[in-house]
Amino acid sequence: MFVEEMFGLTGKVAVVTGGGRGIGQVVATGLAKAGAEVVIFARSDASKTVELIESEGGKAYQVRVDVTKEEEVDLAVKETVKRSGKIDIVFNNAGICIHKGTVEASIAEWKEVLNTNLTGIYIVARSIGRYMIENKIKGSIINMGSMSGGIVNIPQWQASYNASKAGVIHLSKSLAVEWVDYGIRVNCLSPGYIGTPMSADTPQELKDAWIPLIPAHRMGTPEELIGAVIYLASDSSGYTNGCDLIVDGAYTCV
Ligand code: NDP
Repeated sequence: MFVEEMFGLTGKVAVVTGGGRGIGQVVATGLAKAGAEVVIFARSDASKTVELIESEGGKAYQVRVDVTKEEEVDLAVKETVKRSGKIDIVFNNAGICIHKGTVEASIAEWKEVLNTNLTGIYIVARSIGRYMIENKIKGSIINMGSMSGGIVNIPQWQASYNASKAGVIHLSKSLAVEWVDYGIRVNCLSPGYIGTPMSADTPQELKDAWIPLIPAHRMGTPEELIGAVIYLASDSSGYTNGCDLIVDGAYTCV
């Protein structure tokens, strides 16, 4: 009962971007288990996530949307409000990584990473933030950062990714202050190295170099992020705002 009062999300509607696989999929199932109705904003088909949630008695559906396209996001927000009545929580998670040295990467690749990881987060937060302000909803927006937004791994071939995630962390702090009087909280989640399809694409050379540097001696699992997101989404984090919650097996401590 106490845990339900502190962390329960029954009656809340949570949007999860990029929820078709990886961290988004696992966190979406966790939010549903905590009681939220989950709406997956997905560029590719996310019916597997919807099936997973429904098979465990939760409520979910997907809305197809590319987070870099402002008009599509605005339409997805409208559709969600029409179907679910409101939006209380956003896990603004969709992102990409291109592992290339700065000289080898093209300017188009730099723009693609910044456009998805930073502008995409901005477009979704702006569209849903505007909806929350207009409808006086005291919501929680959780933006996906990364430990790479604060530190630089060695060896390093992802300057665009690091720059985009540093931007997400500071954007989250900026929005937290800008929207505090509306009762909207904006926080950032910054995981370390987590086992997902994205990290599976990391060149073996980088994996071999990074894993021994993790004080926890292993990668994290997406399941180990569920509690952090539920905390930030729930009323129990009412005084946690503009925070960058790092979940990295102590990687950034050393
Ligand atoms: P995955 O590659 O497994 O999943 C990324 C998801 O984002 C996919 O569902 C993908 O959809 C979606 N996506 C990408 N671009 C868009 C877009 N333009 N519009 C809508 N959806 C899009 O990655 P992870 O689960 O590992 O990563 C999720 C987030 O966590 C990312 O922001 C990542 O930077 C961050 N992160 C990951 C870490 C890790 O070690 N894995 C560590 C720290 C942060 P599609 O199938 O269509 O491509």
